[in-house]
Amino acid sequence: MVHGVCCSDNNTGAVNVPIYNSSTYVYQNADAKVKWDYARSGNPTRAFLEEQIALLEGGTRGFAFSSGLAAIHAAFAIFEPGDHIIIGDKIYGGTFRLVNQYFKKWQLEFTTVDTQDVAAVEAAIKPNTKAIYFETFTNPLLRVTSVKAIAEIAKQHHLLTIVDNTFLTPYLQQPLKLGADIVIHSATKYLGGHSDVIAGLVVVKGDELGEKIYFSQNALGGVLSPEDSNLIRRGIQTLGVRMDRHLANAAKIVAFLIKRAEIVKAYYPGIEGSVDHEIAQKECRGFGGIVSFDLAAAIDSKAFVERLSLFKLAVSLGAVESLVELPYKMSHAELSVADLQDCGISTQLIRLSVGIEDAQDLIDDLTQVLDSFKK
Ligand SMILES: *Cc1c(COP(=O)(O)O)cnc(C)c1O
Repeated sequence: MVHGVCCSDNNTGAVNVPIYNSSTYVYQNADAKVKWDYARSGNPTRAFLEEQIALLEGGTRGFAFSSGLAAIHAAFAIFEPGDHIIIGDKIYGGTFRLVNQYFKKWQLEFTTVDTQDVAAVEAAIKPNTKAIYFETFTNPLLRVTSVKAIAEIAKQHHLLTIVDNTFLTPYLQQPLKLGADIVIHSATKYLGGHSDVIAGLVVVKGDELGEKIYFSQNALGGVLSPEDSNLIRRGIQTLGVRMDRHLANAAKIVAFLIKRAEIVKAYYPGIEGSVDHEIAQKECRGFGGIVSFDLAAAIDSKAFVERLSLFKLAVSLGAVESLVELPYKMSHAELSVADLQDCGISTQLIRLSVGIEDAQDLIDDLTQVLDSFKK
């Protein structure tokens, strides 16, 4: 994470890869086979990040995009009209919109399945199925899918396994090593880590998939800029220390929440006694920094999120600062009342993205708000 792939292509001795702000590159002669010709097709700063993430995920090649959704777009674009893809039933809302309002128009078929239920996934496979796409931890209820189990089924049926690894990062899970073929990140979240850049990454196993994603990246053109590539590269350097703190803080907050009478139920894969915990314990190195919980009916959930002070009221996640949000009003506002109910998202559900502040300061903030409802 700190060093990336060794590089010294400049004469200055700089310890970091330079930010190459050149959109075009000189040919030594008209017949020259140049490595760099035009910066959509390739840029040395972006290439450093692409190799860095490929190395971390244990993949063959990495690709950097201007957003997580641009990365997902490029990945789905390798399929053909008529292909069928099984997708997790609780995937990121933007991915769901991309699939339903965009790719369906181009004759890709999708079936949504609860991917924790391996038998249901297998039952959804059709002759034209080409891939299974899911997130290891769902948002906001943190249900856990076994990458190993899904990849095994996928292999039997010659399907690709595609995992959105945004919530875990390669520090906590390397899906390619568990059998997946393609890993996707919204690098906007933990990899960037500072809420100051929108970016996406794709990592693939094998040269054939590498060629296909590269074709998508260059043809669709949603590449990450050199400056933003540098910000994600820099974010990844501190991912390990940040993530250790996210994990430690999340564990302390969960321990605090489950003791409070105002909390009806906490959702966190680190809590023992669930299928989610069982799977996560086997396949992940930690349980992540996202914690959700249901507030008791007597507490006004809007007042709760508004009265917090260290936890900022905002969507997104995975950065150094702690965030709180009300899924039914914010991240999942697009869902109908019936869909919200289906997903288990009540008006009392709160999602925290636990940051790297002092854990006691965060607990004090939660305490002052919970206590304020007693008066
Ligand atoms: C945020 C997010 C995305 C979309 O990424 P953008 O960088 O916002 O385009 C995709 N998947 C997951 C799990 C996310 O949290």
